[in-house]
Amino acid sequence: MEYIIPHYFEQFQCVAAECEDTCCAGWAIMIDEESLERYRNAKGVFGDRLKNSIDWKKGCFLQQDKRCAFLNSDDLCDLHIQGGEQMLCNTCRDYPRHMEEFEGLREGSLSLSCIEAAKIILGCKEPVRFLRFEDDVEDEEYEDFDYLLFTKLMDVRGYIIGMLQSREIDIMTRIGVALDFADQLQEAIEEGEVFRIDEMLEKFGGAEMFFDFEQKVKRNQMSEIEYCSNMRKMFRVFRKLEVLKADWPEYIKGAERTLYGEGQRVYQERLQQFLGSMGEEWSIWLEQLMVYFVFTYFCGAVYDGNALGKIKIAVTATLLIRELAFAEWIEKGQQLGFDGFVDIAHRVSRELEHSDLNLIRLEKICQKSFLFSTEELLGVLLYEKIV
Ligand code: SF4
Repeated sequence: MEYIIPHYFEQFQCVAAECEDTCCAGWAIMIDEESLERYRNAKGVFGDRLKNSIDWKKGCFLQQDKRCAFLNSDDLCDLHIQGGEQMLCNTCRDYPRHMEEFEGLREGSLSLSCIEAAKIILGCKEPVRFLRFEDDVEDEEYEDFDYLLFTKLMDVRGYIIGMLQSREIDIMTRIGVALDFADQLQEAIEEGEVFRIDEMLEKFGGAEMFFDFEQKVKRNQMSEIEYCSNMRKMFRVFRKLEVLKADWPEYIKGAERTLYGEGQRVYQERLQQFLGSMGEEWSIWLEQLMVYFVFTYFCGAVYDGNALGKIKIAVTATLLIRELAFAEWIEKGQQLGFDGFVDIAHRVSRELEHSDLNLIRLEKICQKSFLFSTEELLGVLLYEKIV
């Protein structure tokens, strides 16, 4: 089996009781078959507690007030306290390490939803490198795995990530080029012309591609009013998502008031000040966010053919995190530090990435709503470039 991981993958260490967050609250923890068997056979008083704390139909731990039934009042795990690490199910043992599975390949990443992992992902100053290695685990054969499409997606992802890391280019242009390229790629996939991708990649990153892109941008230039109205509507997408953590809706409402409550003119003035005040670090944070989302999701398009949808999720999540960061900057008296940004990114990731329902909903919205069409998203991205 072959593996690909980001170079910082092994740096993660859980800080357990020292953690300022807890990963056992807010979402249903799915239990693997082997652990379920172990829990079913557990004896004594603790065995009884185990049996009564699992939803055996769904195969997950029960929750009380959206907290795992084993999370005690000190925010520690009773299962770990009683039985040690070997008592944990795979989800709890592996988190925040995440694996995407493909035929012959496993891709590991750290989940942005863990605050310590988020510090590593966003705190990485250099462009992320991806390490490949193999072990003796037999490759599993997947039925109907489209190996040709997968190889092309891997090639495209390599190019897109390389371009997102081209720091001599403005970050919003980099994101825009990725989106624009994914749009063309989607056309080739839908027309059954996957072979065209090689040709497209030959032009990728060249002067001609940037020229075409600049032309498109000029045609799509957004007015101040359009931009503000689009961002406001885009922000409302949060309301359409399943809520995982109880304090999330209030947090989003507060940020919405801060951002748009005083009208468009104030929003615009503040936005200019905000973007003007953010230094070089800001571009690196956005780059790392985009690289994280693209690496984690893009090749999953081999299962549904929706490559553009994966890039739109990356762009939308990055823009929404950006918008929440802007709100935080206003609320904190025009200050936004690394810890504040990490906190926002990990909160968004918790809500979005740990609910399949939310990921599917967002992908559908991105596919159907004009607001999330490539043209509108490009308009928003490039507006920020010229502000
Ligand atoms: S959020 Fe991360 S660091 Fe905190 S307890 Fe969970 S895995 Fe450990």
